[in-house]
Order: sequence, then C-alpha cells, then structure tokens
Amino acid sequence: MPQITKSIELFEKAKKFIPGGVNSPVRAFKSVGGTPIYMAKGSGAYMTDVDGNTYLDYVGSWGPFILGSMHPRITAALEYTLKNIGTSFGTPIEMEIEIAELLCKIVPSLEMVRMVNSGTEATMSAVRLARGYTGRDKIIKFEGCYHGHGDSFLIKAGSGALTLGAPDSPGVTKGTAMDTLNATYNDIESVKLLVQENKGQVAAIIIEPVAGNTGVIPAQPGFLAALRELCTAEGIVLIFDEVMCGFRVALGGAQSLYGVTPDLTTMGKIIGGGLPVGAFGGKREIMERVAPLGDVYQAGTLSGNPLALTAGLETLKILIDENPYPELERKAKIIEAGFSDNLKKLGLNYVQNRVGSMSCLFFTGTPVVNYSTAITANVKKHGKYFHSLLDQGIYTAPSQFEAMFISAVHTDEDLEKTIKANYNALVASEK
Ligand SMILES: *Cc1c(COP(=O)(O)O)cnc(C)c1O
Repeated sequence: MPQITKSIELFEKAKKFIPGGVNSPVRAFKSVGGTPIYMAKGSGAYMTDVDGNTYLDYVGSWGPFILGSMHPRITAALEYTLKNIGTSFGTPIEMEIEIAELLCKIVPSLEMVRMVNSGTEATMSAVRLARGYTGRDKIIKFEGCYHGHGDSFLIKAGSGALTLGAPDSPGVTKGTAMDTLNATYNDIESVKLLVQENKGQVAAIIIEPVAGNTGVIPAQPGFLAALRELCTAEGIVLIFDEVMCGFRVALGGAQSLYGVTPDLTTMGKIIGGGLPVGAFGGKREIMERVAPLGDVYQAGTLSGNPLALTAGLETLKILIDENPYPELERKAKIIEAGFSDNLKKLGLNYVQNRVGSMSCLFFTGTPVVNYSTAITANVKKHGKYFHSLLDQGIYTAPSQFEAMFISAVHTDEDLEKTIKANYNALVASEK
C-alpha cells in the first residue's frame, strides 16, 4: 500500500479554501471513498504523486491525453509559443485559421468552427445557436449523457451528478428544467414520442454518440441514423457532443466511425492537448448565425489563445502524422481480452463495453445499453476494485460511471501489469 501522507495533509488544507477540496467534483473520490491523490508530475502514461508514488494512468486527465502526458512534440511546441509568440492578444492570430481549417478537414460535419475554452462552453453555445436558428425553445437530451455543467444539461446528467446521487441541481430554474426533455439512450421510440408530444417546439437533440459519462455505452447500430432521419424530417438540429469521443474513437470522431453526420458538433478534451480548449461547429448555414456574422451572441476573452491552440494543434498534427488508432485498438483489445479471462477464471459475469480506446468494466451482469441498465452496477464492489488497483499503482477513474482511456504511450508491458492487477482487484472486490 503506498504511503499518501502528504496527499492527506494537502486535502485537509484544501477543504478549508476550496469547496470539497477540489475544483471539479469527481476528483474528490466521493463515490469510492478515501483521499484524493495529489499529483506532482506527469510523464507519458505515468503520474507521480506528492509522496513519490508512481501510478500507471488510465484517466489521462479525463480524456485529453490520447498521446500521454508531456508528449515531447507538444511540450516543444508550447515552449516555442511561450518564447516567441505570447500567451494572449485578444486580436485574431493566424493559428486560429490553421486549427479551424484543419478541424473542418478532419471532422465530417464541420464547415465552420468557433473555438471556446471548455466542453461546457461548446455545448452551451451550440444549444443557444440551435435555439436561435430554429426559433424553438426545447431540447432533447438522453438520460445519463453529460454535456458539461450548463443549466440546460443538469437534468439526469451522468457521472458527476450520478455519483453524488443528485441528478438535478438546485439553482437550475424550473423553466430551464422544463425546456430539457430526457429520452432513453438507444431507444428511438422514446425520442419519437417526445418529438410528437412537443411538435414544432424542439430546437435540438443533443447526444454523446458514444456515451462516456455513464461508463461507456455505444450507440447501437441504426440508432444514430434513425435520430438523423427524425431530425431532418422535423427540422430539429442534431448535435453530436463529441467532447469525449471526438478524436478518440477515430480521428474524425464517432460521426466518421458510424457514418452519421450531425448538424452541429461540440468538441473538447483531446482538441486542447491538455490545455483548456473547446470548439463547436457544423453546417455553414447554421454557423453563419453566430455573432458577429449572425445574431446569436457568443464570445470569449481568451478563446483561441495561442498557448491553448498550440497544444491542440500539435496534438491533431501528431494524430494525423502517426495514426495511432490501429495501435490503440490493438492495445484496448489486449486489455479487454485480459479482463475477460480474469472474469472467467473467477466465475464473474461482469459486462465490458468498449469503443476503440475508451472502455468500461461494469460491475453488473446486465448488458449496459442505457442509464437504467448502467445503474444496476454494484458501486460498492467497484469502490473496492478501484482501491485495490490504486494500491497496485494503477490509476483508474474514481467512479464506476467513467471511462478507462488507453493512450498511445501505454506499452504492452504496462498492459500486462494492468491485467495482473485487474485479477487481484477483482478478487478484492468480491471480499
Ligand atoms: C467532459 C465533457 C463535457 C464538458 O467538458 P468540460 O471541458 O469539462 O466543460 C461535455 N460533454 C462531454 C461528452 C464530456 O465528456
């Protein structure tokens, strides 16, 4: 068991000055118990904590680190920008055009794109735009999908809220809540019913095409295509929230993997290469409504700043140059098969969901296809599993309802170590 004395001290101090000691709830280990680990240094697939313990990292800063932490090309690019360009201007810079052009080339649905500073900003802005464009108020989201912490989305909103057992947050007005309709993931009839009941009032349907905030739940074949058809028929803006799965399940995101093209796409995480970046974009006709070209207001003092764009741009360039996706698939398959063997050996029937390098082991025997099947998972067992892995130096998400991310810098040796640790942790979870 690693000594975490300094982490414990820091957490006690943090709680005096920061609500819950953290700047984002799921970091607080609430659902698994114990003290969050304070990290001191990241390097590739590893993180070292303030007490000197080293962990093999499968959280990857919650998604951005598809190339690992401190990739030499990204740090070199950041150093160059710091020394030679600057951190911010508040004027247009050439790099903004470069990343916008590249994104439009990579992501099928993008004809125009606006950079923002987080995934939350991207989804909030996309929904405002869809409302402005359609002149309608209501949106449909899916139970268990997370789209950041904008008011409209905090209704049955996946992991953070789910783990705290507070799916609806105080402070969200009744009016806002009433404009957000919740459908069942992978159930097209539930969507059609809502659309019928709210005929001519639905501005947008927003979905994670690979749901990654209630564990991992892939959209079933045909479901996304049926949503596309429904939106086209009803004049509803289809928004794919690819903040997590974009550039992760494929370079062009889930929309390129499944061949379904949304009207708008929201991005984040990988697109910032570890710095705070988000983006939204899509059809020219809709994006032309964004200010200053159009009448739908959206702005940001630090949007498109050189430092953030440098990390994002370099990440995208490496992904294009190196095409790590076949390797990521191979590695993810090794983990999946290894975990599967372990489960079999122990006579456990737990479910694994996976799309490319994002996966989740659910502590349930029920196939997980939506929110209600996800929450059949035994979170107590997951908590024991998590802590056993942590004790063995493997850092996974401190919640049952989060994804495990494999990166390009996880080695086969790392994977083997992880499979062995998984066996021990499964044994521990059953005690
Ligand atoms: C993480 C995430 C967000 C929110 O992004 P932030 O950068 O945390 O604001 C939105 N949508 C999805 C699908 C996400 O995974």
